[in-house]
Amino acid sequence: MFDYIVVGSGFAGSVIAERIANILNKKVLIIEKRSHIGGNCYDYKTKEGIIVHRYGPHLFHTNYKDVFEYLSNFTDWQLYHHKVLAFIEGKKVPIPFNFNSIEMLFPHILAERLINKLLSKYSYCSKVPILELKKEDDKDLKFLADFIYEKVFKNYTAKQWNKRPEEIDPEVTARVPIFIGRDNRYFNDKYQAVPVEGYTKIFERMLFHPNIKLMLNTDFREVIKIDLGTKKIFFFEQEFKGKVIFTGMIDELFEYKFGKLPYRSLDLKFETLETEYFQEVATVNYPNDYDFTRITEFKHIHPIKVNKTVILREYPKDYNPEKDIPYYPVFTEENRELYFKYKELAEKFENLILVGRLAEYRYYDMDDVVKRALEVFEENIR
Ligand code: FAD
Ligand code: UDP
Repeated sequence: MFDYIVVGSGFAGSVIAERIANILNKKVLIIEKRSHIGGNCYDYKTKEGIIVHRYGPHLFHTNYKDVFEYLSNFTDWQLYHHKVLAFIEGKKVPIPFNFNSIEMLFPHILAERLINKLLSKYSYCSKVPILELKKEDDKDLKFLADFIYEKVFKNYTAKQWNKRPEEIDPEVTARVPIFIGRDNRYFNDKYQAVPVEGYTKIFERMLFHPNIKLMLNTDFREVIKIDLGTKKIFFFEQEFKGKVIFTGMIDELFEYKFGKLPYRSLDLKFETLETEYFQEVATVNYPNDYDFTRITEFKHIHPIKVNKTVILREYPKDYNPEKDIPYYPVFTEENRELYFKYKELAEKFENLILVGRLAEYRYYDMDDVVKRALEVFEENIR
């Protein structure tokens, strides 16, 4: 009946299904646990017309021309440069921390000295991860590094990961480096935009195809069985010989054989306010105050003239498999090792392919996932 089965309809699963349907002209079944497509990129319009990202703010940014061009087949774009402020010592300062942030927080003479010191060490417009800046032994730079570490990273990271910055993969805090210059944008990538009609429309256009069948509200475990002995995959009790592309949690796929991989989850609290705007920019981070990490106001991302606004507060927490969504793999050495055990096992299955943030246990952004899915299609499926 089907040549391929895809588990999950986020970007990983949807890109692969779309390629199979259009390029190979083969039949594909997508099995999706949620009641909608799009995974964590799903968005919707409120009755006021405000586009809201159901699973947290999603900003598209990439340096991959091929990814931008591929997605442009399914959407028009609206130019959008994401801006983030962090509430520090009573002021809202630009993040990534940059010269403007320094000038807002320190007296003029000190600010000038800190900026000159940075410029004597690093080239203009370069980016310095906080854990690198912390290694400086110059007195001024050390003072600055300690300040940024304490006020921007330490408590935010404690809330988000329940860990100190040194306890997680350095790439995590390096996502938001100190910027040697005055660019207040959160990202510097060449392509930065949001889909004019939102992300869900992209998925609809990818998946509305006669070769694609979608089973929503279905946990793959209801219909697929993995035989760890014979390394065969069964669909409704019958051996499935076509390829299975799996984009869910790898530990769940193998019934936690080697133990559970840790994930962090979020409580997302949305609020509709009877006011035109709530805050100055799309996202304000609160590293040192409150239990939430940040507030996002969606009207800044998808502008619309209405006198209401929707905001979202994100409260990080540990993932509970009974009721939560596993938003973030927890990137530590130990967890990576556990992941590799699962990956090794997966490789013993001839017709199983793992793609995506959960299946590969990686901190993939949307563009990384699309890039990866396009590569996997070319290398392992086509
Ligand atoms: P997912 O989108 O998670 O899709 C996996 C799909 O598999 C889901 O639909 C899920 O329901 C389904 N599934 C899981 N288990 C089962 C099962 N047992 N049975 C059936 N189906 C199952 N990226 C950016 O580029 N920019 C951003 O600004 C950005 N912001 C983010 C903010 C937050 C709060 C989060 C959590 C992520 C953000 N991302 C952002 C990352 C982005 O969400 C991911 O890169 C992308 O969603 C990964 O796609 P995926 O297909 O791998 O995973
Ligand atoms: N981070 C921080 N303070 C901030 C912003 C980010 O400590 O104000 C750290 C924190 O550890 C966070 C990581 O940098 O998890 C990556 O931030 P990013 O904004 O990329 O996280 P995401 O949007 O993926 O949740």
